[in-house]
Amino acid sequence: MRPSILNPLFASAASLPGVGPKTGKLLDRLLAEGGKEARVLDLLFHLPVGVLDRRNRPKITEAPLNTVVVIEGTIIEHRPPRAKGPYRVLIEDETGDVLLVFFLANHQWIEKSLPVGARRWVSGKLELWDGHRQMVHPDRILDAEGLAKLAPVEPIYPLTEGLSSRLLSKAIEGALARLPALPEWRPAPALPSFTEALRRVHRPQTPEEIAPDAPARKGLAFDEMLAGQLALGLMRARARRAPGRANAGDGRLVDKILNTLPFTPTDAQKDAFAEIRADLASEARMLRLLQGDVGSGKTVVALLAMASCVEAGRQAALMAPTEILARQHFAALGAFAGAAGLRLALLTGRDKGSGRAKTLEALASGAIDIIIGTHALFQESVAFHDLGLAVVDEQHRFGVHQRLALGEKGERADILVMTATPIPRSLVLTYFGDMDVSLIREKPVGRKPIETRALPAERIGELVERLRGALETGAQAFWVCPLVEESELLDVAAAEERFADLRQFFGDEVGLVHGRMKGRDKDAAMAAFAGGETKILVATTVIEVGVDVPKASIMVIEHAERFGLAQLHQLRGRVGRGAAKSSCILLYKGPLGETAKARIEILRESEDGFRIAEEDLRLRGEGEVLGSKQSGLPGFRLADPAAHGDLLAEARRQAQGIVAENPRLEGENGEALRLLLNIFERAEAIRLLGAG
Ligand code: ADP
Ligand code: MG
Repeated sequence: MRPSILNPLFASAASLPGVGPKTGKLLDRLLAEGGKEARVLDLLFHLPVGVLDRRNRPKITEAPLNTVVVIEGTIIEHRPPRAKGPYRVLIEDETGDVLLVFFLANHQWIEKSLPVGARRWVSGKLELWDGHRQMVHPDRILDAEGLAKLAPVEPIYPLTEGLSSRLLSKAIEGALARLPALPEWRPAPALPSFTEALRRVHRPQTPEEIAPDAPARKGLAFDEMLAGQLALGLMRARARRAPGRANAGDGRLVDKILNTLPFTPTDAQKDAFAEIRADLASEARMLRLLQGDVGSGKTVVALLAMASCVEAGRQAALMAPTEILARQHFAALGAFAGAAGLRLALLTGRDKGSGRAKTLEALASGAIDIIIGTHALFQESVAFHDLGLAVVDEQHRFGVHQRLALGEKGERADILVMTATPIPRSLVLTYFGDMDVSLIREKPVGRKPIETRALPAERIGELVERLRGALETGAQAFWVCPLVEESELLDVAAAEERFADLRQFFGDEVGLVHGRMKGRDKDAAMAAFAGGETKILVATTVIEVGVDVPKASIMVIEHAERFGLAQLHQLRGRVGRGAAKSSCILLYKGPLGETAKARIEILRESEDGFRIAEEDLRLRGEGEVLGSKQSGLPGFRLADPAAHGDLLAEARRQAQGIVAENPRLEGENGEALRLLLNIFERAEAIRLLGAG
């Protein structure tokens, strides 16, 4: 239960004064994911990305053009439009004059706000028109009284279509007014408190106050990191307190699988499996992260781990982030597992009715050894006979809560999480706390290097011609459409358009798959491509994680400049798995910035995911702040790992101190820390405390 003092923060943003249903919808679109409602807290966490400096008040002739300035002047004359055309008002100071220009404006309002002979302050951008200075639609017209109230600097926020910065600022002001007085939770407060910091970043007095290294920004980042580290620390401590069980058997099933595999595992795979098996065999509960580059063969390692668990008489679960992946795992592992006599089943959100009921029954009675599925697996109605191991694939798509929730389905089940791409060491700490880590740095032998090339988007015609030639020789290609950060719907529109284009050239050989398609249609599109009926698969980034079609040897990525390095690497990893020589074409819209150039260069040079991950972080550190969607990592909302990395170590240290001294979060300070965990929605950790 959330402490009631926080209720105002979790109320919907639409409940704020001055925010009607229409603005509410826009706020939902801007601030909330997946059709959810934006809350007051989401507004407060929407940080400014810049400021309008209203202290910039030059004389008219000294004012720079095309920059927002505040001009002080006397109104000289009004020039209402003759026929069409704008209404203009001339104002001057001792250095010169400027025309204020209004299109389609209310004349009465203009006369009232700008009476001839009065002094007024107007804010806006000056430009030259026919050799004369003018300011079109000033964003402020103030008298002396209004000027006194003008904020010296005004925060600029990311917006969404239809939402004006005025409306948003008003909503944020309303949200600030709802901020309750909160007790200090930080063990060693040195930075502005949470509430104080929020006020400062939304009402900056200087541009410096919103910079990442400003005390207020650091305070917020610290709180977010402290909440994360504390939640991880508490869960980890609980896992330690409650011993696990030995979940590994005699090796007979593992041996059978090894005998049926069409390849020999690499040494790296063997080592990783040995580490995992040792964890499984021990009485301590396993919390292990398996990091391996794309294509390094993590899935087989997971299968061996699950087989070990089944040998011990228990069940295992493998959770994938998408329906496509769950099905693919089920099909791929089914072949090996069947030969060893393992009973496999699939459970996704698409299973309904009697089929689903039957699966659930078999799971509860122990008639299923290994279940593969999506997040449908941790729904309440899913009960295991005896879950020993939960494997979470491509885990960055899941929150900590979800990972743990699956583990809770068993009696202290061991947990293995696998990453889609390597994560820089410094970030592993952020997201996984002190989990044990296994690395697979080596790829299966026989993988051919992928030729990576960048091509300006204008030359797409050439690309299509070359593609035609390649398809004639039997090649298949993925065609990934631009990522549209703001909206999945736009993503889909872009993919549909490209699909239609390519159909004109290639007819029925083109398939399409995107996130908004019905499950069965997605399957059909994937199956047609995997079976070779379609030769080109146009896709949104839904194919990003894990899809395995070894015959595909060409990867085209449109608007490559919009993707993060790790994500490009991940996409590229979809090819280069079969016998044919593979290539990756990065179509970009120029001119490229320095960072985008550097990114493409690194990709051309290297196929080492670990190196790419480090470079990605370094580049982002140089100012290119990527959203979570682009970096492929779960986003911090307030902290910027690149700018606030050093705070993380401190947050972690303090979290460890708390976990050691007050593991049940008792007393006054404990109460305050519970507020912190609630604010950053880590309440799951609190629930586990209770279950302890
Ligand atoms: P990822 O680590 O990206 O999840 P997968 O587990 O999907 O990679 O493996 C990619 C492909 O490589 C699969 O087709 C898998 O069967 C194959 N594979 C795995 N291990 C080996 C190996 N040791 N030798 C050859 N192929 C392998
Ligand atoms: Mg995988």
